[in-house]
Amino acid sequence: MFPSDWMTILVAPIIGSWLGVLVRRWPQGRPVAFARSACEHCGHVLNPPDMVPLLSFIWLRGHCRYCRAPIGWFHFAIELAALAVAILAVWAGGGVWLVLMNAALGWALLTASWIDAETFRLPDLITLPLILAGLLVCWVEQPAAIYNHAAAAALGYICFRVVDAAYYRLRHRHGLGAGDAKLLAAAGAWLGLAALPYVVFGGALAGIAMALVAKRGRLHAALRVPFGPALALAFFLLRLGGG
Ligand SMILES: [Zn+2]
Repeated sequence: MFPSDWMTILVAPIIGSWLGVLVRRWPQGRPVAFARSACEHCGHVLNPPDMVPLLSFIWLRGHCRYCRAPIGWFHFAIELAALAVAILAVWAGGGVWLVLMNAALGWALLTASWIDAETFRLPDLITLPLILAGLLVCWVEQPAAIYNHAAAAALGYICFRVVDAAYYRLRHRHGLGAGDAKLLAAAGAWLGLAALPYVVFGGALAGIAMALVAKRGRLHAALRVPFGPALALAFFLLRLGGG
């Protein structure tokens, strides 16, 4: 492992801590500061030892140091997820820049997924730049494939919009959101045409699995499940697998 790999893994929980603040405050239009500033229960200003990602939660056994109120699993879970993203990116390897870029992609997808899971909205401010970033990365990595990847982005978007329109005619409600279509466009931009069916199929499988776990097996057609996290997971794993 390179020293930069260790750095990526070490900063991951800190990034995760910031992503947690982003997920909690951004959809509500609240200002996004660098970190949590006060206890959500007693309002006590948090000091640096209370804000060490992962470790503070374990050390304080999930309770506020000042009022002993339970802190909740959210921040710990997203810090852990950010760490998992970094470990996967390092494990996939490919040199300093590739690892950093894949980790950044994973963190962006993690943030979008978490916001989608909580609000049923994938933020344009993440999905649209991801489309551009994917085309840029393709331009640098394999310039000859740029038309293929651009076509995949367009096709990904159109496919989901067409499926959603057909579903709407049939059921009179939306199955796939515009955000899902933009996320599939981003996957197309990063992975190219050949990988697109795998993203959709992998996303569908992951989506069914997530829905089963979330609803403990009570799966039916009226159930509303955000597709973003499943799609993002398939996208990220295919990218790491060199898809
Ligand atoms: Zn407190």
